[in-house]
Amino acid sequence: HHWTRTWSFFNGEWQEGNIPIMGVRTHAAWLGTSVFDGARAFEGVAPDLALHCERVNRSALAMGLKPLVSVEKWVELTHEGIKRFAPGAALYIRPMYWAEYPGARTVDADPESTRWCLSLYEAGMPSPDHGTAITLSHYRRPTLECAVTDAKAGCLYPNNSRALVEAHRRGFDNAVLCDMLGNVAELATANVFLARDGVAFTPAPNGTFLAGITRTRTLNLLREAGVEVVEGALTWRDFLEADEIFSTGNYSKVTPVTRIEDRDLQPGPVFRRARELYWEFAHS
Ligand code: PMP
Repeated sequence: HHWTRTWSFFNGEWQEGNIPIMGVRTHAAWLGTSVFDGARAFEGVAPDLALHCERVNRSALAMGLKPLVSVEKWVELTHEGIKRFAPGAALYIRPMYWAEYPGARTVDADPESTRWCLSLYEAGMPSPDHGTAITLSHYRRPTLECAVTDAKAGCLYPNNSRALVEAHRRGFDNAVLCDMLGNVAELATANVFLARDGVAFTPAPNGTFLAGITRTRTLNLLREAGVEVVEGALTWRDFLEADEIFSTGNYSKVTPVTRIEDRDLQPGPVFRRARELYWEFAHS
């Protein structure tokens, strides 16, 4: 595997490359007790970095880990790390916590053994002209009773991965996952919006999907600019009949969907406004 240039802060020092951070008996390697967040630096900015650092600390608490690093410390270390790359480089920023030892009940983790690491690596920003094709997955998002859905945890991703692989096999870029009630929840790797007659709609957070930081930012920017945004229960049919569909996520930011099943879509005015507003915000 070819890794792009990577720098990590682990055990008190900056180290380059895909450094080892776990042992054969590490609880996280065995049972997936890890949480992470994903943020971006590009063109000399790192939008909402502090919110991503805050979220990784909340994820740690939700998974029963100890958030050992303050938000200020995460942010400071990230800015230190960014300086190890070319000025303005497009980077992915990943703070992580995990459990080293099992607790008294073996499958539980010992919170006192929480470890952490911050990684940054080179990852080019996807072209703004690249539209994605989406298809409905039959996999569903779990509820809070079925999984720790209030954490951005590694152990939540195998299901999204199954949906992605299934979508790719059918010739699509991403999958739409519904919640257990059958309403649209999110894409496998991003949140999703639709627009109809100039009004934007997006699934209301109901504890089954990650209500992303880019989603909230985009929603607020649109509202402040006078665009109506409705959060509610949306069906697959609502998406099939939408004028526009777009996704939001830290990695690709605001991206147009240009095909849903066998129907082609054009990037529309609500998407363009959202993308423009996000870029203005990111550089402000
Ligand atoms: N849903 C899932 C499953 C994701 O992995 C991501 C990316 N972190 C998102 C939504 C978007 O969240 P954010 O805008 O906070 O990156």
